[in-house]
Amino acid sequence: MGAGASTGISEAVTAASAADMAAAVAALPDAEKAKIIAALTAGKRKNVIGGNWKCNPASMADVKSLCAAFKEAKFDTSKVDVVICACNVHAVAAKEALGDCGIEVGIQNISKTGMGAFTGEVPVAMAVDMGFKWCLIGHSERRSLYGETTDDTVEKLKVAQAGGMSIMFCIGESLAEREGGKTDEVNKSQLDAALPLVTDWDKFVIAYEPVWAIGTGKVATPEQAQETQRNIRKFVEEKCGADKAAKVRIQYGGSASPDNVENLSANPDIDGFLVGGASLKPTFVKMIEHLGK
Ligand code: PEP
Repeated sequence: MGAGASTGISEAVTAASAADMAAAVAALPDAEKAKIIAALTAGKRKNVIGGNWKCNPASMADVKSLCAAFKEAKFDTSKVDVVICACNVHAVAAKEALGDCGIEVGIQNISKTGMGAFTGEVPVAMAVDMGFKWCLIGHSERRSLYGETTDDTVEKLKVAQAGGMSIMFCIGESLAEREGGKTDEVNKSQLDAALPLVTDWDKFVIAYEPVWAIGTGKVATPEQAQETQRNIRKFVEEKCGADKAAKVRIQYGGSASPDNVENLSANPDIDGFLVGGASLKPTFVKMIEHLGK
């Protein structure tokens, strides 16, 4: 491009309002639009890493020593959100142990119902009152082991958002679905009803977790994760517009670890991780530090 053309662009951009520019980009063919959105948003989404402790570790002593290790992490809180989703019985202690080091504690399974006669549930109001700002919704273990439906995830999204919580909304395909070429279809079906209900895109994170990679040691290749996450972002664009698609953060989850964090996170549509097993080791710090430098 010659100097004249680039001068023309900068003059046009200076003269245009943000709405004019959004309209001009929206009118371009998809491939051109994607290039412009990628150029404008490159490196601008804040990373987010969640540690999903599930029903671990075994003892309070282990909770304290993990938290002590994580407190040593050197990271820039403007570059990464760090959230440990502890087991409910450990959550308050983990929060106390982490103190003000910049690491939040989240709830693994927020309730779709409120306070009252709902045995075994963790309602949003109570979680918020106790200072928990984040929750997981729709983790594959909730879906496969406890019968959580897509409708349930939508109900949970509504109440969690209404209470002001930030959400890691988990989706992903099984091995049979991937092998049957249904990956994108499954992800779309798990997001379809949720996306139009999102009210705050800073507080809504999509955790793409292929079920075949969770807890198996079989991590998706960077190419697989990037391609799938790009398709998820395209679906957000179709449903909610290019601005929301450019903004939404998409984590990868499934045997992520300090060994693969660098190759995976180098991809433009991978904005962080949801981590199970590797978040139960002091070396989780390396993942936090990689994303937060
Ligand atoms: C998870 O449970 O969300 C998860 C990704 O687990 P792991 O990292 O152990 O595969």
